Amino acid sequence: MRISENRRLIGLVSVLLVAGFMAISLTSYYVSKKAVRESIAGRELPLTSDTIYSEIQRDILRPIFISSLMASDTFLRDWALDGERDTAAVTKYLKEIMDSYGAVTSFFVSERTRVYYHASGPFKKVSETDPRDAWYLRVRAMDGPYEINVDPDHVNRETMTIFINYRVLDYDGRFIGVTGVGLTVDTARTLIENYQRRYQRNVFFVNREGEVTLKGRGMNGRFHALKDDPGYRAIAATILAGRQGSFEYGRDRQTVLVTSRFIPELNWFLLVEQVEDPSLTAHRRALAASLLVSLVITVIVLAATSYTVNFYQRRLEKMATVDKLTGLWNRQAFEMIFNQVTKEARRSGQALAVAILDVDHFKNINDTYGHMTGDEAIKSVAATLVHNVRASDVTCRWGGEEFLALLRDCDGEQAYALAEKIRVAMEQTPFTSEGKSTVMTASLGVAQYRPGEDLVALLRRADKALYAAKQGGRNRTQRGD
Ligand code: GH3
Ligand code: MG
Ligand code: MG
Repeated sequence: MRISENRRLIGLVSVLLVAGFMAISLTSYYVSKKAVRESIAGRELPLTSDTIYSEIQRDILRPIFISSLMASDTFLRDWALDGERDTAAVTKYLKEIMDSYGAVTSFFVSERTRVYYHASGPFKKVSETDPRDAWYLRVRAMDGPYEINVDPDHVNRETMTIFINYRVLDYDGRFIGVTGVGLTVDTARTLIENYQRRYQRNVFFVNREGEVTLKGRGMNGRFHALKDDPGYRAIAATILAGRQGSFEYGRDRQTVLVTSRFIPELNWFLLVEQVEDPSLTAHRRALAASLLVSLVITVIVLAATSYTVNFYQRRLEKMATVDKLTGLWNRQAFEMIFNQVTKEARRSGQALAVAILDVDHFKNINDTYGHMTGDEAIKSVAATLVHNVRASDVTCRWGGEEFLALLRDCDGEQAYALAEKIRVAMEQTPFTSEGKSTVMTASLGVAQYRPGEDLVALLRRADKALYAAKQGGRNRTQRGD
C-alpha cells in the first residue's frame, strides 16, 4: 500500500465519519426542531389559549350575567319609566350590585335624560359630542343585547376597565337606556402577564378589526393594530377571517408561532404567540455538543486508523518476501531460504553453489535513459537470470542491479558454467529502449558452499570473485576460492 493510498483511506474514513456524524446530528436536530414546533404550535399555545379562555370566561361570564339581570330588573326599568325620581334608590341599587358582585363599577344611563347614574353617587350627563361618551351612542345603535368594551373608567380615574354595556328595554321592547358593571382588567392582565413571564409567550386580544383591545404591560408600545406590525400584516386578514388557527411569521430573524381563537363572549380574538427559537436553544446546544463529540471521535478514530495502517504497513513491508520490481525473492526472503536450502544440502550431501551478478556500468544506463528505463533494464536482467537457471534454483534481487542465484545440486565448476551461460545470454540480448539499443553486460562471481558455512562467509567469497571479475575488465565470470 502506497502513501497516496493511505491518504485516500484516511480521507475516505474521515469523510464517512464526518458525513455519518453530521447526518445523525442534523437529523436528530431537525427531528427535535420539528417536535418542538409541533409541540408549541399544536399543544402548548392552544393549551395556553384554552386556559386563558376558560379563565376569561369565568371572569367575564359572571359580569355579563349580572348585567343581563340588571337590564331585565323590574325595579330598574320601573324606576326609569316612572321618571327617575328617587335617585338615592337607584344609587343604593347600583351600590348593592357593585358590592355584592365585586365589580369595580356599576351604572345605568337613561336614554330619556342621558343622565349617567353610578354606584358612588355623583351623576353626570352623557354628551353626544364628547368622544369619551361615544360608546353610549354605539350601544344605543347596536343590534345585539350587549357589548364588552375596554376603556379607562372616568369615575375610577384612568383605571382600565372592562365594561359590560347591556341594553335596557321597556316592556314593549323600546330602548330606554344602558346598564351594566365594570370590572378591572387587572385580573385578565395578571393572567396574561403570568403567561408571558412563565413561558415567554405574548398574550393579547384584538377585536374584529384587528385592533389590540387588551394586552399585558410587556407588550405596550409594540403595536396597536395587527396591520401596524410588519410580521402580522400579511396574516392579519386570515386570522380575522377564521375562528381559530395556527400561524407563523418572522421577526428579528426568528420564527414566531401564533395561535388565534375567537372568543364570542368578547367578540375578540385571543392571540398567543411564542418565539420558536428559545425552545430550540437547548437542541442547538445539543447539536453543537454532539458535533464536538463527533469531531473528537473522528480525530481519535483517524489517529487510531492511521497508526494501525502505518504499523501494519511497516510490518507487511518487513514481512514482504518478494521484490516489487522484478518479482524475485528479496534479501530477507533469501536469507530464510538459504538456511532452509543449506539444511537440505547437508542432509542430502548434495553440492550447493552461489552466483552473484552485478551489471557492468549500470550508471550509464541510468544516465542515458533515466531511472525509469533503468528499472526496465533491471527487470530484463532478472528475466534473463530466471530464464537460464533451473526452477529449483533460488534467484534473488540482492539490491540495486545485483542478483544472487542459489544453485542446488551444483558444484563450483557447474556453477561457473551456468554463470558463463548467463553472462553470454546477457551479452547477446541487448537492452532496447526508445529505439536505442545497448549491450548490457554483467560480471559474475561464483563460490561453492562449504558445509557449516554461513551466508555471510559464502557471499564474502562470491563477492571477492565478483570484484576480481570487475577488476579483470568486466563482462566475465570469476571462480571464488
Ligand atoms: P560497475 O558495477 O560496473 O562498477 O558500475 P555501475 O555503474 O553498475 O556501478 P554500481 O554497481 O556501483 O552502481 C549501481 C548503480 O545502479 C547505482 C544506482 O544509481 C543504480 N541503481 C541501483 N538500484 C537501482 C534501481 O532500482 N533502479 C535504477 N534505475 N537504478 C538503480
Ligand atoms: Mg552494483
Ligand atoms: Mg554494477
